[in-house]
Amino acid sequence: MTDLTSLTIAEALALMRNGEISALELTEAHLARIEKLDPAIRAFLNVTADFARAGARAADEARAAGDERPLLGVPIALKDVLSTKGIETTCGSRMLKGYHPVFDATVVARLYDAGAVMLGKLNMDEFAMGSSTENSGFFPTANPWNLAHVPGGSSGGSSAAVAAKMALATLGSDTGGSIRQPASFCGVSAIKPSYGRVSRYGLIAYGSSFDQAGPFARTVEDVARVLAVIAGNDPLDSTSMPSPVPDYPAALDGDIRGLKIGLPAEYFAEGLQPDVEQAVRAAVAQLADMGAEAREVRLKHADYSLPAYYIIAMAEASANLARYDGVRFGARVDGADLIDSYKKTRGAGFGEEVKRRIMLGTYTLSAGYYDAYYGKAQTARTLIRRDFDALFAEVDVLIAPVAPSTAFKFGEVTDDPLRMILADVLTISANLAGICGLSAPCGFDAAGLPIGMQILGAPFTEERLLQVGAAYQRATDWHLRSPDLG
Ligand code: GLN
Repeated sequence: MTDLTSLTIAEALALMRNGEISALELTEAHLARIEKLDPAIRAFLNVTADFARAGARAADEARAAGDERPLLGVPIALKDVLSTKGIETTCGSRMLKGYHPVFDATVVARLYDAGAVMLGKLNMDEFAMGSSTENSGFFPTANPWNLAHVPGGSSGGSSAAVAAKMALATLGSDTGGSIRQPASFCGVSAIKPSYGRVSRYGLIAYGSSFDQAGPFARTVEDVARVLAVIAGNDPLDSTSMPSPVPDYPAALDGDIRGLKIGLPAEYFAEGLQPDVEQAVRAAVAQLADMGAEAREVRLKHADYSLPAYYIIAMAEASANLARYDGVRFGARVDGADLIDSYKKTRGAGFGEEVKRRIMLGTYTLSAGYYDAYYGKAQTARTLIRRDFDALFAEVDVLIAPVAPSTAFKFGEVTDDPLRMILADVLTISANLAGICGLSAPCGFDAAGLPIGMQILGAPFTEERLLQVGAAYQRATDWHLRSPDLG
């Protein structure tokens, strides 16, 4: 009997089409697995079992009537940063406990329109601020490969759910690495689309000029299937681009002969865990065997990316989070007067990391400091963007590790905010520049924890990243390995 939770989306769709399994059976298998494993992994903040069963039944009826929508009956789950109509959406924060949006995020609506079945909402660092999911306002999520380790973050629920086979695909969001880094820590495939490729309408804002939603799945092919559904212009998000969406799943076959790969020297620098470097270099050698040409390149302003990102992201966060005052949004704590009520609401609703960022963000935006910090960071951002523009005139993709290390242990980095920030050093430039990045498994460290490689491309070249990732997965089997969870 087929193990229904080990299927890819492609396989599940084929079985449903042939009538060998129903969407309801597929959904029940995932709900049962969540019930069995999630008490230890804790990827889900909320399992919407009845909603999922209703969706699955509707999918089965639709299929019986000849419906062939691209994700019909496919069980997925969503990072809790995405607004879901009538379903609690907390963004990992106590501030939003009990918030039931009156609308669906555009990406959610598109998944529903494509026939996907929604299993529940996934844990995350509060307001997507963090790299380990330890900043969740509720509880941390464990890495399915080793429960004493973090799953990465901020989309740790999204990566853990796929790695533990509790959903066929999930959505996360990436402001500075939060899709790619957890994918790498959990050994799954995922893409951060170019800024403007996917609508941000209904994605609760952290850093609005960086945020993008994107899919996690067990194969690059499945990632392509989900991206094809969620991508594209949305009149409700003026920063979403009107450019047409390529047929991503159809673009995966091409070979990669003649592909020009750049290896940024700054991303293979000191401080990299040696087995991470080895695995990524071995992956590049594999691609070279398949006909690609790799050479070293330089990202001149790489040193500025961390400070520029954290100044701009915190500035944007401080503005975006001003709305949680207990009057417009947020769980109000009443005080003696309005000001007291604001203070109590924000004091009780936000965690330490969120407060730290709001304070730093308002500081860098205040008169007298704006030019010294915020203005300079914007200048650095432009220089970084130009570095990438120049490189992509010479090479087709850049390849690098996703993170300097594999998944760390709970508590190991939490008390050192600077070390936590360094976990993002290889991913944030892509968000500063608005380019796209794919994360794909390429090995394991000595302790058996997954290693990921990052394939970066010029804005709106997702098709090429997916093609390279799929070619790599046809030649290797890292992505097919899964943790032994019983
Ligand atoms: N770790 C980074 C931060 O805390 C990135 C988070 C993200 O991409 N949402 O800002």
